[in-house]
Amino acid sequence: MSPPERIPTTCPTIVGTELEFIKNVLKGDNLSGKGEYSRLCEQWLGQYMKTGRPFVVSSCTSALEIAALLANIQPGDEVIFPSYTYVSSVNAFVLRGAVPVFVDLDDGTMNLDTGLIEAAITPKTRAIVPVHYAGVSCDMDCIMQIANKHGLFVCEDAAMGCLSTHRGRMLGTIGHVGCISFQEKKNITAGGQGGAILVNDPKLVERAEILYEHGTNRGRFLRGEVDRYQWLDVGVNATLSELQAAFLYAQLLDADHIVARRRAIWTRYFASLGRLAQKGYLSLPTVPPDTTHNANVFYIRVTDVNQRGALIRYLDKHNIQAHPQFMPLHSSPYGQQHGRFVGVDRITSLAASQILLLPLHLALTDEAQERVIHRVCSFWEQAVEKCI
Ligand SMILES: *Cc1c(COP(=O)(O)O)cnc(C)c1O
Repeated sequence: MSPPERIPTTCPTIVGTELEFIKNVLKGDNLSGKGEYSRLCEQWLGQYMKTGRPFVVSSCTSALEIAALLANIQPGDEVIFPSYTYVSSVNAFVLRGAVPVFVDLDDGTMNLDTGLIEAAITPKTRAIVPVHYAGVSCDMDCIMQIANKHGLFVCEDAAMGCLSTHRGRMLGTIGHVGCISFQEKKNITAGGQGGAILVNDPKLVERAEILYEHGTNRGRFLRGEVDRYQWLDVGVNATLSELQAAFLYAQLLDADHIVARRRAIWTRYFASLGRLAQKGYLSLPTVPPDTTHNANVFYIRVTDVNQRGALIRYLDKHNIQAHPQFMPLHSSPYGQQHGRFVGVDRITSLAASQILLLPLHLALTDEAQERVIHRVCSFWEQAVEKCI
């Protein structure tokens, strides 16, 4: 008998209509971007997500870099982050000279523990960057309250959280700005790379447009508001190519179906692995009330890093891929040199060594998921037998 087909942890979303949309771009005369499909994507994001002014960009990393410029970060300013995130959340601000200040996680959600934020605020603090891990919302009411009290800028890293909600509001639309990723590991992709910056504070929209237009007022020129455009500020080239915008638009039109299918897979894992959680072998993610999530990843937390290694090898032997997620940034070489962790690292390093992502992607069939569930269960059943 041949071995069962390998099940990857992640696999890019493909909805089937992408090529048709790309062909339309090939018929026109704009490949470089800021064209009709980019406009349609922005219109969709604005209407569906109910945000001020969305810009589609080349990555969430470039969205974060624009956000750091909008926050007016100066060398020596401090910015508060969770340490359990992708490097881009922090790099964007470090590029402007910020000192990253890391705060521990909430044990249930793997998001910033909001009870620890105020202790990390100093006269140099300028911004908070909450990361919605696994597409599950941070406590945004509390974060906005703290930010307003101390006059801080809030940039939501909603890279993983496109179409998740907090009290009925989409993630990325609550902070002064929100950054979304359309990279291939996220629910919706612009052909492998892509992102959006949602500029929610109306006072920031004009400057955001100038930064996005390479530092010029070309946006106003195109609307006929000025008769020529000139260089007014620093700027970036974060343009999403029109081919990618076409790819993205095809997926945005299918967004409800993508999220529904991923949620069904997530919910089945959650229900099927509950028994193992009850026995104390592993723990399952917490989703706070008043939030909905997009099922970007499904993770379990096992007891320690050795057990995680053993489980990865066991699943691999059965042709199932499972992998850890982030390495804590505060203990990495750059983080140790340039950042600081405030308070006690009670959860971050421990959780980072326990988290394991199970396969979750649009193409995962019910049968394949059953195989994963069966093997995760049989790992512990075997281990228990050995222990006895
Ligand atoms: C994916 C991701 C990013 C970076 O997104 P890109 O579009 O690849 O630049 C940033 N932050 C988090 C939390 C992510 O998961």
